[in-house]
Amino acid sequence: MIIDIHTHLFSKGWLPRQFFHGVARFITHEFAKQGIYQTNEEVGDAMIESTSDPEGVMLLDQMDDAGIDRSVVFPVDFGLALGDPEVSIEDVNQKVAAVARKHADRLTAFASVDPRRPNALEIFQKGVESWDMQGLKLHPCSGFYPNQEEVYPLLEKAADWKLPVIIHSGSMMVPLRSKYSQAVHFDDLGVDFPDLPIIAAHAGGLFGYPQMLSIMNIKLNFLVDISAWQMMALKNYPMFCRALRDFIDFTEPERILFGTDSPSFWSMMSNRDWVDLIKNLPCNAPDGITFSEKEVNAILGGNAQKLLDL
Ligand SMILES: [Zn+2]
Repeated sequence: MIIDIHTHLFSKGWLPRQFFHGVARFITHEFAKQGIYQTNEEVGDAMIESTSDPEGVMLLDQMDDAGIDRSVVFPVDFGLALGDPEVSIEDVNQKVAAVARKHADRLTAFASVDPRRPNALEIFQKGVESWDMQGLKLHPCSGFYPNQEEVYPLLEKAADWKLPVIIHSGSMMVPLRSKYSQAVHFDDLGVDFPDLPIIAAHAGGLFGYPQMLSIMNIKLNFLVDISAWQMMALKNYPMFCRALRDFIDFTEPERILFGTDSPSFWSMMSNRDWVDLIKNLPCNAPDGITFSEKEVNAILGGNAQKLLDL
């Protein structure tokens, strides 16, 4: 079974426009090298159109193409950092949950809300009790540290319900700030919630992963997902293999989860190519680095299957 622990549904009005204008900087930067000049606003607005998938049709297509059996899908709340979009975060949670319920055989929804919102706990509670959401996603880059006071009531609730929590880690593009999601701020959660499964999304990030590894090596409630590592695997395959091997050797293969961060990386690598790259690690890893079929199967789905109790 292949399980993608990290995906999103985007639609018009679900996220602040500024978020897309920030992501667009990567594209306009590359275009400019080729003599093509477009503004961040033009490219960002086009991205809002091209990634709009309110019913999960594109996500399910990519899952079918890649052989992914189940995806965990969640909203993202950048409203307090960038200005609230047209649709409230409560409504976005409800919509994402409804899509997951409609495709209950393929999708699992996690709730997501900025813990600083006065109604954050209420939204999480509704998500779980009324909309069948089965975990919590937090994105500190909107302006809070994972170990900040306001986060704790949500984590306490997740611990009571025995639901997993996934928290963005590593760097983040303009106009959001990377300082909030550095691995060091996760350490307290290992002390204060030692039995709550906390997934550090992106495993600490491309260059932050050694710090995440050093924390999860001794704080045993942390897991990681390898979403966004498509970038490292494409740019430097041996480095990717080395980093993944280090996570397995210094923690356990059971604590590493496959993820795509769909639709964020589709223009760089399809979900099918990402799955194939992981599947082929036992044959393709460079000299001196080995992966077993058993490890690959655990990362691709076995671990998530246990975590989500499927
Ligand atoms: Zn994400």
